[in-house]
Amino acid sequence: MVEPSGHLDAVVVGAGVVGLTAALVLQSTGRQVAIVTADDPGATTSALAAAVWFPTKVGPRDRVLVWGARTYRVLHEAAGDHASGVLLRDTVTLYRDRPGRPWWSAAVPDVRDARPDELPAGYDHGLAFTVPLAEMPVHLAWLLDRFVRGGGVVRRARLGSLADLAGETPLVVNCAGLGARDLVGDRSLTPLRGQIVRTTNPGLTVSLRDEHHPGGYTYVHPRRDDCILGGTVEPGRDDTTPDDEVTAAILDRCTALAPELADAEVLDVSVGLRPARPTVRLERDVGSVPGSTVIHDYGHGGAGVTLGWGCAEEVAALADAVEPR
Ligand SMILES: Cc1cc2nc3c(=O)[nH]c(=O)nc-3n(C[C@H](O)[C@H](O)[C@H](O)COP(=O)(O)OP(=O)(O)OC[C@H]3O[C@@H](n4cnc5c(N)ncnc54)[C@H](O)[C@@H]3O)c2cc1C
Repeated sequence: MVEPSGHLDAVVVGAGVVGLTAALVLQSTGRQVAIVTADDPGATTSALAAAVWFPTKVGPRDRVLVWGARTYRVLHEAAGDHASGVLLRDTVTLYRDRPGRPWWSAAVPDVRDARPDELPAGYDHGLAFTVPLAEMPVHLAWLLDRFVRGGGVVRRARLGSLADLAGETPLVVNCAGLGARDLVGDRSLTPLRGQIVRTTNPGLTVSLRDEHHPGGYTYVHPRRDDCILGGTVEPGRDDTTPDDEVTAAILDRCTALAPELADAEVLDVSVGLRPARPTVRLERDVGSVPGSTVIHDYGHGGAGVTLGWGCAEEVAALADAVEPR
């Protein structure tokens, strides 16, 4: 991490997936960009995301569909570069009743009814499709590397207020995630706690998800060398200590979906706080930093990876409307 120096066209607050994608898109327009972040990318909520393309607990649906469709395409292309940490995963989402086509399916090219041989025991219905999945420690490092190679600079600092950036830059982009609660006093932003278990991969290659499991939100996401098993969705709870009973319940539910997991070894258990808001805040704000335009881009709930690039491009379009390049 280095100190920014010289002329800056934009400062992005936050180095999670939302901040890094915004910084990269702004940089691609020829701007000199700095990121200011309280945490290294590897220590953000983004780093522990599952992180499959899927619009979980986020709104509004019309804008999410546009941002999500765009991000799907960018991540799909990134999957062609092994270094990106992105892969394409066959996925089966499970239902107890026959599903129609969900609202998000317009953003996914190959949604179809799952065949009986694709369904775990006890399920009669499912939808099968392919989505990008990002191995976040690798993916965030890849994004950061691209930003730094492009001339971007990163400063480690926890801001008390966006106004701390007054006089530094004409454009401030607020991608502080849950940190925006204090940074801009947004009380509509709340933690949505999620606990996940990481195991060895016993040879699984298909993601499975049951959002309506009576025991709680359940998913199995195989990565290259490990699996992410989930999970929980706990509104308003902000302690990040894993609960052993919850870990056992996640392992039970996921092993019922994928019996091969009985042989998997638990590698670690983690808890993250999704930055939940009734709707993503992506808008221009006049007056909170004297002399600068502010664009907010936070509140992505369980879908920051799913929406990052689409939101970043809208940030750049808003910025261009103020100062055309
Ligand atoms: C268990 C779990 C599973 C998930 N699975 C998925 C999934 O499968 N797919 C998906 O799309 N999403 C998933 N998510 C959601 C995803 O992780 C979030 O939507 C995403 O991480 C939000 O990214 P962000 O960049 O806005 O926030 P963060 O990653 O939290 O980054 C915020 C950044 O802002 C900085 N910051 C905050 N306050 C300040 C301040 N005052 N001064 C300076 N810097 C500050 C932080 O240091 C950090 O760099 C999951 C989340 C959890 C917890």
